[in-house]
Amino acid sequence: MPSDMPPQEIMEFLLELGITVNDCHVMTNRKMGLPMPLFLISLPKNGANRDVYNITELCYMKIIVEILNKRYGPAQCFRCQGFFHSSKYCTRNPKCVKCGKPHFTKDCKKTRDTEATCCHCQDNHPANYSGCPKNPLNKPPLPPKVTFWEERTRKRKEMMEAEKLKSQASS
Ligand SMILES: [Zn+2]
Ligand SMILES: [Zn+2]
Ligand SMILES: [Zn+2]
Repeated sequence: MPSDMPPQEIMEFLLELGITVNDCHVMTNRKMGLPMPLFLISLPKNGANRDVYNITELCYMKIIVEILNKRYGPAQCFRCQGFFHSSKYCTRNPKCVKCGKPHFTKDCKKTRDTEATCCHCQDNHPANYSGCPKNPLNKPPLPPKVTFWEERTRKRKEMMEAEKLKSQASS
């Protein structure tokens, strides 16, 4: 999709398809600082939104919907400290990287002897600290999916073990 497509328009088109979007940003090439023909959307997890992967056409253009590839992120916005977008195209309220308050970092009145406050986790580090637990890089990998059958076999095994122990104890 052309990078100058207004994100607002994309969101409206998606809404027409029954997909609710929290956020839509054009993605920028981190090396060149140029917008790419890619848009990052974040959406609440619900049944209807799962259909987003089936969309092949939007705004009268052919598109491909993909899960965010690690390759691209997480770039952090200098303006709002949000992840995966560039400050150049950010229209959100500014947040300070040092104190987490709603002002631009350059206007910050924080002195060296007061601790930094992270606007993501409220801990005492700047918002761009890569070890912040709210940084998407630090999200723990998803637990392995346990299927219904695996779960059932496991429970049955547990019960059998328990039975065994019981009979051993009583004899
Ligand atoms: Zn931003
Ligand atoms: Zn500040
Ligand atoms: Zn933090």
